[in-house]
Amino acid sequence: MYEVTVEDSFAAGHYLRNYRGKCENPHGHNYKVRVTLRGAELDKAGLLLDFKDLKEVMKRVIDRLDHQMLNEIEPFTVLNPSAENLARYFYEQANTRLKTVTSGRVNVKDVTIWETDATTALYTE
Ligand SMILES: [Zn+2]
Repeated sequence: MYEVTVEDSFAAGHYLRNYRGKCENPHGHNYKVRVTLRGAELDKAGLLLDFKDLKEVMKRVIDRLDHQMLNEIEPFTVLNPSAENLARYFYEQANTRLKTVTSGRVNVKDVTIWETDATTALYTE
């Protein structure tokens, strides 16, 4: 199996519902996101996926969220915009896009979201 990983970042506001503590009030984070892809076959150029194509996949997701209040954007109008749920959102969005781009040759292995330098959440299936 081959794996490739790319990191990117975005800034956004959020608050957590059904939660008591600092995160129940609106505030912002400089989020970092790491996506790792996995696949058994390389393309004709010897790549699992060109890094620039993976960055493009991530950019499509990030452009929806960057400098927004996450609680006002689907699915986070209902789903809490926790680091865990953000990680799953990136996973699902990127996987759906990759199915189209690579015809199922490459899948997302896992997604990590940094809410701060010291706190991360990971989603994998
Ligand atoms: Zn927060």
